[in-house]
Amino acid sequence: LMQLFRPLDLLGMVYRTICQGLVDMDAMFKLIDTKQEVVDKPGAKPLQVSDGTVRFENVVFNYDDDRKILHGLDFEVPADGTLAIVGPSGAGKSTIARLLFRFYDPQDGRILIDGQDIAEVTQHSLRGAIGIVPQDSVLFNDSIGYNIGYGREGATQAEIEEAARGAALDGFIAKLPDGYDTQVGERGLKLSGGEKQRVAIARTLLKNPPILILDEATSALDSRTEDEIQATLAKISERRTTLIIAHRLSTITHADEIIVLNEGRIAERGSHRQLLVKRGLYADMWKRQAEDQREKA
Ligand code: ADP
Ligand code: MG
Repeated sequence: LMQLFRPLDLLGMVYRTICQGLVDMDAMFKLIDTKQEVVDKPGAKPLQVSDGTVRFENVVFNYDDDRKILHGLDFEVPADGTLAIVGPSGAGKSTIARLLFRFYDPQDGRILIDGQDIAEVTQHSLRGAIGIVPQDSVLFNDSIGYNIGYGREGATQAEIEEAARGAALDGFIAKLPDGYDTQVGERGLKLSGGEKQRVAIARTLLKNPPILILDEATSALDSRTEDEIQATLAKISERRTTLIIAHRLSTITHADEIIVLNEGRIAERGSHRQLLVKRGLYADMWKRQAEDQREKA
């Protein structure tokens, strides 16, 4: 009977995770061993990352035939720069991240990294070049050390501990009953949202990718934890091309460009200052969040 239930449990979990936003796709595929929708082109070559410039060219995408999700997006994330995407829930923000990771292929347009169409390179090399810190990370039913080490095959214990320090997770692990060998996940110690995000950050530090996708956590974290995680994220995005899906605008004021996405279209774009001057959607969001902050204080 258990064998009957297990796949259903797993499906439920996958479904919930997908609903919650961008999932840790790499981990998820390994976990459930599904067939991936996209396949390597015959003779696909590995991606060669030089500067890490990411370009979306007229990207059109829909999950199903009947509804367009992205209506021809154009933007560039400059090498080592930061592009922030904001906008209401359902606008298509996480979809952009999923396309960059090539979870799906666009129906029209291209996504380029350093001039190479990501549909033309091997998925293995593409995914090796991109680190994702998702809103909600998947933990394996294994030790916390294993969960961090998953970021890079063959990582040594010393490297795992260094990554944990970089993610400010070392203090927490030191207090666990079995340290790095403590079992976590569904069948072990349950980690909080903030702790799980730190595991994802540590994995990413180990992976050391030139391109980063951050899907910022929202209300799952209390504001102190969020501030601390923000500081860590800011540190790891230095010297990396970063696409950040932001909920708190205060964390992206120095992005090279901010895109306000609405119903799969770019409604506004510019720097924080330019967007405030416009007195449009972004300026409204900014005002609302500033008021919320004052109410809380
Ligand atoms: P955001 O991250 O901005 O909240 P998403 O990119 O997750 O938005 O979703 C954009 C739209 O695409 C939403 O309307 C959502 O319901 C839809 N969508 C997301 N994932 C799928 C999917 N796997 N199949 C069909 N529709 C989806
Ligand atoms: Mg999302």
